[in-house]
Amino acid sequence: MAKVYQGGCLCGNIRFEASGPPKNPHTCSCKMCQRHGGSLTQAWVEFEKGHVAWVGAGGVPKQWRSSEYSSRSFCNKCGSTIGAIDDAPVIALVLGIFDWPNKTELRPTSHSYISKKPKWWCVHVET
Ligand SMILES: [Zn+2]
Ligand SMILES: [Zn+2]
Repeated sequence: MAKVYQGGCLCGNIRFEASGPPKNPHTCSCKMCQRHGGSLTQAWVEFEKGHVAWVGAGGVPKQWRSSEYSSRSFCNKCGSTIGAIDDAPVIALVLGIFDWPNKTELRPTSHSYISKKPKWWCVHVET
C-alpha cells in the first residue's frame, strides 16, 4: 500500500491526504513562488492529481490562475499557501503545510531559480 501524507492550512479548513509516491521534491526561489508563499524560497513536492484527496470542510482550495499551465491555490479562510494545481494531472503541494514534512523522500533534491534569491539567503539542498 502506498504511503499517505497528510496536512493542511493554518485554520484547518483545507486538509489533504496524498498518497505516494511523492515526485520531484524541490525548492524554488522564483518571484512567483516568493509572492505566493511570502518566503524567499518555497519547498515543493508533487503528486498525481488522482492521488490527492481534499478532505477538509473547505473541500478543494481556492485557485488563482498564475500561468498558462497552472493555478496557485490557497485557503479562502486563512489565506495559507497550499500549492499549485496544474492543468496537467499534477498537484504540487508546499512542504510547509505537511503535518510531518520530516521524511527522507520529501527532502528537496534540486533548487529552481536559485539566482532569484537574495545573495545573503542560504538554502542548503543535499543532492
Ligand atoms: Zn485555512
Ligand atoms: Zn517558483
